[in-house]
Amino acid sequence: MSSNPLLQRNQTVFINGEWRDGGGAAPLSVVNPSNGEIITQVPTGGAGDVEAAAAAAAAAFGPWKATPSTTRAGYLRAIAKGLAARHDQLVNVQMTVSGKPQMESEIDVGDAIACFEYYAGLADGLDAAQDAPVSHAGGDHMGRVRHEPVGPVGMIVPWNFPLVTSAWKLAPALAAGCTAVMKTSEMTPLIELAYGDIAVEIGLPAGVINIVTGGADVGIAISAAPEFRKVSFTGSNMVGALVMQAVSKRCLPIALELGGKSPIIVTEDADLDTALDCVLGGVFYNAGQMCSATSRLMVHESLEAKLIEGLAERAKGMRVSSPFDEGCEMGPITTRAQFTKIREYLDGARADGLTCVAGGDALADGPGNFIAPTIYRNVPHDNRIWREEVFGPVLATTTFRSDEEAIRIANDTHYGLVGSVVCADPARGNALCDGIEAGQIWYNTPQIVYPDSAWGGFKASGIGRELGPWGLSGFQGVKHVTSPM
Ligand code: NAD
Repeated sequence: MSSNPLLQRNQTVFINGEWRDGGGAAPLSVVNPSNGEIITQVPTGGAGDVEAAAAAAAAAFGPWKATPSTTRAGYLRAIAKGLAARHDQLVNVQMTVSGKPQMESEIDVGDAIACFEYYAGLADGLDAAQDAPVSHAGGDHMGRVRHEPVGPVGMIVPWNFPLVTSAWKLAPALAAGCTAVMKTSEMTPLIELAYGDIAVEIGLPAGVINIVTGGADVGIAISAAPEFRKVSFTGSNMVGALVMQAVSKRCLPIALELGGKSPIIVTEDADLDTALDCVLGGVFYNAGQMCSATSRLMVHESLEAKLIEGLAERAKGMRVSSPFDEGCEMGPITTRAQFTKIREYLDGARADGLTCVAGGDALADGPGNFIAPTIYRNVPHDNRIWREEVFGPVLATTTFRSDEEAIRIANDTHYGLVGSVVCADPARGNALCDGIEAGQIWYNTPQIVYPDSAWGGFKASGIGRELGPWGLSGFQGVKHVTSPM
């Protein structure tokens, strides 16, 4: 039995400021992906809990909206402090349940804290910025503009960055004056429960944050609950489409943060070490379980042999192990289902005769979900490994001769989440950045995501933006009041 209290839960449903027994059918098993052992079994929520949670969020909305924005900012700072106070426990949960290496687990906790602090800063100035005057040209009227919270919001999050994806929704929503019901992933149901503990600890008004654990039934109930004025979803395109369909019946606003098959372009003048770091980090961080994985490499043909040699050497040398083992560089795949799906892709690549220069299979037959860092060279552009989101540590490479060709290949996907460019010449590098159709591009930079940057996709990678002022405005409606001069 773990001594981490965040791993020992008798109740996993948080409604109206209280922990409750959930009405879910079967308990959720939380599995250690490094060894397949069941860490704990926890009760789960059900559709009935969503009903109660949505009612609580609706009742809390009026008073929370009327709370001065500086007071809301104070609560956000208190949440950030509550996360910081649990830093080591939160890191431990992510290492144990998600299989994330320690450094990556620490980055997740740091990101969540930074997100709450950032939106506290925006909330500070919200009330003061209300009623901005508009002098209507040629009329006898004046206007004033308000930014008001949209209402109670339903939130559905995935398992790959549970603490971060939930912070990216909760922090701006609460800053704007919205209340929330959040569903955690059935694969990683525990970590976001810390928000419930913190809410109790800091005296957050009841009903402002509600959390319901559970599977698809809970997500379906959130998509259908009449109390919500918006639904914010992060997850796969397949489920995103179902949520969109359900929400469309009520013509409600929706935010979708979906998948990707993102490009990284390396030009012939690129600094080799920077290129190696950006390519490897872009596809092997979090064992490749990133919506933002830059899993398609386009390298100029004159640098290809050298870069591939370096990539293969470093990939083969990576220490893949339990995050609790000394020197772990990449952990296991978080769920057995995802591990099996990745192996099917690798089997398919073998059957298709792809050239594998590193990895290509699971590390060993055993209960741990370990996949070797894998690189396929010169992958045909109609192959599944090139076109589909594998969601694992699998890189596909190709070459280009001209920048026009690189851009054309980069954009030849229905996704458009992120992109990377490694290029020594700033004018050329920035032109390549501008050519990629995606919501966030890193230029000679690893995948750092600042809370004041924009996050979200073009094309089928989503609708809306999280983070930055755009994340806040996603939870606000603009109101214009016109009156006589
Ligand atoms: P998923 O779509 O399988 O599940 C996401 C959430 O939806 C889970 O909580 C799940 O229980 C719930 N759900 C399942 N069926 C539902 C239904 N019918 N109605 C409502 N909710 C339902 O995604 P996942 O496997 O948890 O996460 C991986 C995916 O998420 C990848 O495609 C990844 O690219 C994407 N992702 C995107 C971002 C982003 O910011 N764009 C961030 C992280 C993950």
